[in-house]
Amino acid sequence: MGSAPFLGEPPPPRGPPRWLLYVDLDAFYVACELRDRPGLVGRPVIVGPPPTGPASRGVVLSASYEARAFGVHSAQPAVAAQRLCPDATWIPPDFAKYGRIAEAALALLRRHAPRVVPYSIDEAVVLPDVHSADSARAAAEAIQRALHDELGLGASVGVATSRLVAKMASDRAKPGKIVVVAPEAVAAFVAPLPVRAVPGVGPRTEELLHDRGLETVGDLARLRPSDLVRTLGGFGRELVALARGTPSEAIGEETGPRSRSADHTFERDADAWEAIAPVVEGLAEELASSVARERLRFGGVGVAFRWGDFERTQRSRTLAAAREGPAALRETALYLARQLWQAEEGAGGRPVRTVSVRVERLADRTQHQASLEEFEPRRSPSVK
Ligand SMILES: [Mg+2]
Repeated sequence: MGSAPFLGEPPPPRGPPRWLLYVDLDAFYVACELRDRPGLVGRPVIVGPPPTGPASRGVVLSASYEARAFGVHSAQPAVAAQRLCPDATWIPPDFAKYGRIAEAALALLRRHAPRVVPYSIDEAVVLPDVHSADSARAAAEAIQRALHDELGLGASVGVATSRLVAKMASDRAKPGKIVVVAPEAVAAFVAPLPVRAVPGVGPRTEELLHDRGLETVGDLARLRPSDLVRTLGGFGRELVALARGTPSEAIGEETGPRSRSADHTFERDADAWEAIAPVVEGLAEELASSVARERLRFGGVGVAFRWGDFERTQRSRTLAAAREGPAALRETALYLARQLWQAEEGAGGRPVRTVSVRVERLADRTQHQASLEEFEPRRSPSVK
């Protein structure tokens, strides 16, 4: 085992570790556009609605690494991005194109491994049939090469024996690299990382941990799991396990998530419906293309707002029958978002910090054929 100072009891032996690859396509929307515009390779490029003036409300969807060097990042207001990088070329998004290319990338991954679980339009877990770190790295290299040669896409790959660690490794591998973390190296790998680097740790949890003097993941290793369970629930236990190098797998990589969500945090809290609606639409489009390329239908839609004061309100609709396609998702999400917004307006109004759109009850398209008439809304104003 490794020499990390806080390593707890080693986990019980469970047979040889299963290696998995977390493949994350680099600046995916930009990469899709550069295939058609090779003259822009190496230049600052931003995918998003071009800002039309100082009052423009659009946001950056994806930025090339050359644009990121100027401080441009996704979800940034277009106006701010243009100020930082006035020479960038703006390209309006073409979600149908991104969906097609994502489908081709998924097919490519499936040629390389018996099992592939997509997590978003540009991220997937690949489970090759390999039993050593070297073979896992070789599989990652082969996939990276194929994505580049056949589809013109760059990818960062994290290699580990847990999905959580592989995902964190892929973040460290950006752009275009491979980071391998062997099971005995997990504690040492995560120790220096800021707590925010753990998927699931958002600004609120980060603040909470900082208040207790916990800055890095390594700081968590000396806690008893129960220390964090009081404030963070089961997630607190997972954080301590991760810090000790024995991450539990909360999300099964065998079947993939049965729901999926996309969210957007405004740079400044949004206080107008006109600013919120296009974001809801964009998130719905993103989810619809991700779900469509896996040939899934959805049986429920949810929308949640995190308000400026961090309180969270959500609404969801269970559909009478599974649906597919961006129109159904967009309409339902907009309807729910408007309800949330109007209820809040009636109560005096609060600005919105984060918008999340979620699709639930994902099922294979072949399972049940539904007609539009079966669509029957059911409102559940649940609060979490
Ligand atoms: Mg990506």
